[in-house]
Amino acid sequence: MRKGILFIISGPAGSGKGTVVKELISAHSEIALSVSATTRNPRPGEENGVHYYFISKDEFEKRIERGEILEYTTYCENYYGTPLKEVKKALDSGKDIILEIEVDGAMQVKKKVRGSIAIMLTPPDAETLERRLRGRGTETEDVIKWRLERAKEEIKLLPKYDYSVVNEDGKSNECAELIYDIIKAEHQNTKNTKKEIIKKFI
Ligand code: 5GP
Repeated sequence: MRKGILFIISGPAGSGKGTVVKELISAHSEIALSVSATTRNPRPGEENGVHYYFISKDEFEKRIERGEILEYTTYCENYYGTPLKEVKKALDSGKDIILEIEVDGAMQVKKKVRGSIAIMLTPPDAETLERRLRGRGTETEDVIKWRLERAKEEIKLLPKYDYSVVNEDGKSNECAELIYDIIKAEHQNTKNTKKEIIKKFI
């Protein structure tokens, strides 16, 4: 059976990864998207169980203790983490799964899940990053400043990722397809094909 591969997609705030991931999933519904748990408040339009599982700090800590969280981090004074069960279910059934998570969590997953592939999405330049971040209009100036600083720190970790993809303005569709090409290519990686192919001949 075709094995599912775990793909991590990270990108600094304002890299547009939310839109890109949405386009990727709607065009290729065979790929699962992990829904994270968080203690932050929902933004307008966000639904529980769709965008995130919005839970209390107390509940989050209980889930960590029970070993139900694959990786987690604190970001902007809130917890964010990946529920282990859904990831396991997808991979065991041969489905690829995407984790849209920040760099700290990405590095935890790379260590824990053998064969996982990390992709970093970046805006084309620093000006575009700041414009996109301010354009959202949902955060205070302090939060925007903090996110800009954090974005720079995140981009410094690019060499730890397997792939980089630039998300140009108005090109989220092309960007999503480029990520899909990476997903397809990884299924041809000899690391994933060697056993099955050699078995047929020897
Ligand atoms: P936001 O509050 O903008 O939805 O997310 C803030 C940051 O947390 C983003 O970089 C997002 O990718 C990251 N994030 C979302 N879910 C998770 C998660 O489950 N684990 C980790 N480590 N980061 C996450």
